[in-house]
Amino acid sequence: MSYVDEVLEIVQKKNADQPEFLQAVTEVLDSLRPVIDANEELYRKNAILERITEPDRQIIFRVPWVDDKGQVQVNRAFRVQFNNAIGPYKGGLRLHPSVNLGIIKFLGFEQIFKNSLTTLPIGGGKGGCDFDPKGKSDREIMAFCQSFMTELCKYIGADVDVPAGDIGTGAREIGYMFGQFKRIRGSYEGVLTGKGLTYGGSLVRTEATGYGLLYLTEELMKCHGESMQGKTVCVSGAGNVAIYAIQKAHQMGAKVVTCSDSTGWIYDPDGIDVELLKDVKEVKRARLTEYAAARPNAQYHEGRGVWQIKCDIALPCATQNELLLEDAKQLVANGCKAVCEGANMPTTLDATKYLQENGVWFVGGKAANAGGVATSALEMSQNSERLSWSFDEVDAKLKNIMVTIYHNIDDAAKRYGVEGDYVAGANIAGFEKVVQAMLAQGVC
Ligand code: NDP
Repeated sequence: MSYVDEVLEIVQKKNADQPEFLQAVTEVLDSLRPVIDANEELYRKNAILERITEPDRQIIFRVPWVDDKGQVQVNRAFRVQFNNAIGPYKGGLRLHPSVNLGIIKFLGFEQIFKNSLTTLPIGGGKGGCDFDPKGKSDREIMAFCQSFMTELCKYIGADVDVPAGDIGTGAREIGYMFGQFKRIRGSYEGVLTGKGLTYGGSLVRTEATGYGLLYLTEELMKCHGESMQGKTVCVSGAGNVAIYAIQKAHQMGAKVVTCSDSTGWIYDPDGIDVELLKDVKEVKRARLTEYAAARPNAQYHEGRGVWQIKCDIALPCATQNELLLEDAKQLVANGCKAVCEGANMPTTLDATKYLQENGVWFVGGKAANAGGVATSALEMSQNSERLSWSFDEVDAKLKNIMVTIYHNIDDAAKRYGVEGDYVAGANIAGFEKVVQAMLAQGVC
């Protein structure tokens, strides 16, 4: 039995009740087969795969808080510190009723490789709680965040573990958590990223994931003898990633003709008006029908359908599993050249396979949306220096990181005989750096 299969069996036995974690480990280890087979003896002797699939530690704790009726509520919270071979643990905090240990472990495991790809010194971690922020008052959110941080603050620190936002954890929650950390530990340090600009946040963090996605896509096109100029682009989503992806695509001379939210989607043949979209989604927090009402040529459709529109480039930026096999077939039939993921896991496995087999250049989220965490790491650097860099300075660094990521994943795929498979390339490039650091640091 190969080393990969042996370890997959162990991981399955030990984590039988964690389907998302098993799925992530299987996907990553499968795509790493070429590099693991080539170094089997060394990796086996050093138990590299057993160590990389077992978190350094998993912290589970109770979060008691008082709701507006005076009732005590109790939630279950997690911080999984997965691997710190290349830097302090780094990864977001997800607040959603679906959160459980398996989901946090899956996200933390993936984060090891994504963070490694950024070229910056950050390890992999993830955390969260089964708390549902929807419908809670501002006071309840603060009460929850303060109780959550009262326990979490024992395990984190600027050089130890630096959490960030994720689903349900935005600027407001980060602010409350930072305040509580400061109060208990008495230390003003860069212990969280995604902070407000008045207390240590970084310029460009808001735009980073969308802009980064376009910097990588532009490089991908350039390396295939194409440019963004004049290209038609389909984007899904209308949130943070989608909005800034659309803005940067327009700045590069492309035309984005679609966007979507959880209820419907827009086709705007004149090109999406980003300022209007921001006003509808970020200011009014309204539905996309309001966008269509303000644009005479735009069409609004209920449900899903973005991928039927003919385009050169598709950028899924909404949520997981939103680009299905039937969508992949439609994109290929319409002559789409490239698909780059702004969201985490938006393309199903069968759709990914179909796109790759039909010659579409496909870059998965681990590489394509790494601009967000990369800029969080730049926030950490600024906090350590006690300096704030200008917008242009951070933007230039972000661009350089995304271009480097593209070349690193392209090179890794070529070195292991899977040229053009950017999914395998991303896993290999991320893995190699972490393994070198683990080997250098001995058994730990
Ligand atoms: P937001 O919450 O800002 O936006 C998500 C958008 O997707 C919303 O417009 C939402 O609609 C829409 N949406 C949700 N479900 C569906 C659906 N089933 N079909 C179509 N649209 C849907 O999130 P972000 O933009 O921050 O994140 C988007 C994705 O990118 C997530 O997968 C996230 O994990 C990933 N990501 C984000 C990073 C970041 O820095 N923000 C970094 C790396 C990855 P509605 O407006 O109706 O809620």
